[in-house]
Amino acid sequence: MTSHLIYWIVTAAVGISIAAITIYNGRRWNGRGKFLCQDCRFNSQTLCLKVERPTAIRCTSYRSLEK
Ligand code: SF4
Repeated sequence: MTSHLIYWIVTAAVGISIAAITIYNGRRWNGRGKFLCQDCRFNSQTLCLKVERPTAIRCTSYRSLEK
């Protein structure tokens, strides 16, 4: 009985930890929107001439708005 309780407590703790890490990373992830350009500081016609803009999924020039 006690071993089952410990099992479920550990399982719940692991599940909650994974959910917390996923939410934390999701909020800080580059390109939080559908496309990287949505939160890139160069997302304008004058600052970015790449043909991928505004729907880039991968871009080596991406820079977050937050920095
Ligand atoms: S630098 Fe890349 S991510 Fe940023 S706006 Fe241009 S294409 Fe999009």
